[in-house]
Amino acid sequence: MSRATDWIPSMWMDTFEELLDDDNELDYGDQWSLNFSYSQTASVTKEERKRGWKVYSHCAYGNFQCATCRKTWPSARVVVLFRYRLRSEAGRGTVIMRPFGQACRRCKEDVFELPGFSQEVVENTLLRLFGKIRKNCYGEDDDDDDGSSTSSTQVWTKPHEKTLCEACRMGICCQDD
Ligand SMILES: [Zn+2]
Ligand SMILES: [Zn+2]
Repeated sequence: MSRATDWIPSMWMDTFEELLDDDNELDYGDQWSLNFSYSQTASVTKEERKRGWKVYSHCAYGNFQCATCRKTWPSARVVVLFRYRLRSEAGRGTVIMRPFGQACRRCKEDVFELPGFSQEVVENTLLRLFGKIRKNCYGEDDDDDDGSSTSSTQVWTKPHEKTLCEACRMGICCQDD
């Protein structure tokens, strides 16, 4: 059994496939795949931009557990960073995902635990990503900013501690509302 605090790449892969195969979220005939990188940054070099790479950073609700003291905590500011590109001549699209971690406020060690997400959050996050891809790779109008996808996951969490957040340390955390 997986817990809400477990980082489960296969959950993202499975949902990615389902949304593409069953719901045809990117119905343009290209083959899209999802990969993971735990070191990528939000910056895209000129060379990478030329090759079509784009970046999308998403703020999601997730759960963490400290591997040392077993303490768990929720956070409404978990950064999920996607890098993606379409190679239309090859009929292939690539998405590379990086989840950003948080450190335990009790242990204060520089160990960033990876986040766990609910199925609903995984789905909402990928739907937002596909909206970006449709807009930036296929020229569709951006229609995803209705704000409705976040309302269902609004819960109270402790104030965000920048020193414990890996994305804050890198200066790419979610914007303050
Ligand atoms: Zn701890
Ligand atoms: Zn942060």
